[in-house]
Amino acid sequence: AFVEPLRMPVAGPMPWRAMLVLADETSSKRAERMRADFLANASHELRTPLASLSGFIDTLRGPARDDEAARDRFLSIMREQTDRMRRLIDDLLSLSRVEMNEHLPPSGEADLGAIARDVVDSLRPMADARAITLELSLPDEPARITGDRDQVYEVVENLVENAIKYSPEGAVVAIEALDNCARDVAEHAPERLAPQSARLLLAGPPFDPRQRYGVLRVRDHGAGIDRRYLPRLSERFYRVDGQKSGPTAGTGLGLAIVKHIITRHRGGFSVESAPDTGSTFSVFLPKPAEGSKAASPAQPVA
Ligand code: ADP
Repeated sequence: AFVEPLRMPVAGPMPWRAMLVLADETSSKRAERMRADFLANASHELRTPLASLSGFIDTLRGPARDDEAARDRFLSIMREQTDRMRRLIDDLLSLSRVEMNEHLPPSGEADLGAIARDVVDSLRPMADARAITLELSLPDEPARITGDRDQVYEVVENLVENAIKYSPEGAVVAIEALDNCARDVAEHAPERLAPQSARLLLAGPPFDPRQRYGVLRVRDHGAGIDRRYLPRLSERFYRVDGQKSGPTAGTGLGLAIVKHIITRHRGGFSVESAPDTGSTFSVFLPKPAEGSKAASPAQPVA
């Protein structure tokens, strides 16, 4: 509403000043509301498992005191709830760390392929538990990108973890790293899209035809995501209806963390998905400027 008047012809300096103050107030109010929403959401998410825990404690001290089978069942639910709280707290801390550093451009260099390999190794037990095969495909050369290794690891870990969580047992998850891609290749997975599928760029740097990217794609054959939910995927605490409970229930913070890290790195983040067919998440990160290799020998490549 306050953009429109700026296009109107104005006679003197006063109306301009009045309008700028109005815009400023509006954006600071919006930031304040977002902070309040965030706190309300975070408290609510933490309260739910806490309420369940205290309910079970009361039951175990009262009605279920002498029922061994009920006790075992309740204790394992309590274990799940404490794990959930731990995941939430870890994700909240991670999000706040990422937000704090967002204005600082990353300075290091990393090999996207080596990161993908490390993530796959560390998540293999999680995949094995659900008989999911992780297929890894790497370029011949290291896919060097400008970035903070630990943060890029967190991005890849979040995407591969989601692919495992939202795939049926026995499915295949494909993880692919590519080197030296132009923007259009980086942004879109090459396979033909299924008819009902959609793609969306969730974050992307300004277009620069000279910039080359290292790319990481994670493709699953899981539940997929309806096109109307795609724009909300990277909102904090957003979870698609129908995936909010059960053993795969997440925190809804993973893709928000991914988006912040990718934005800080001036990279891009896109999703292609079709219900019942699966999803492909792609991230692309700028490659270091030509000739910077000799200047930065720091990145060990295993
Ligand atoms: P969560 O911790 O809930 O997984 P994320 O922020 O990582 O949170 O993801 C947000 C939501 O996006 C998830 O709750 C899920 O509904 C949906 N989602 C993410 N990745 C996938 C995927 N690979 N397949 C299907 N749905 C997904």
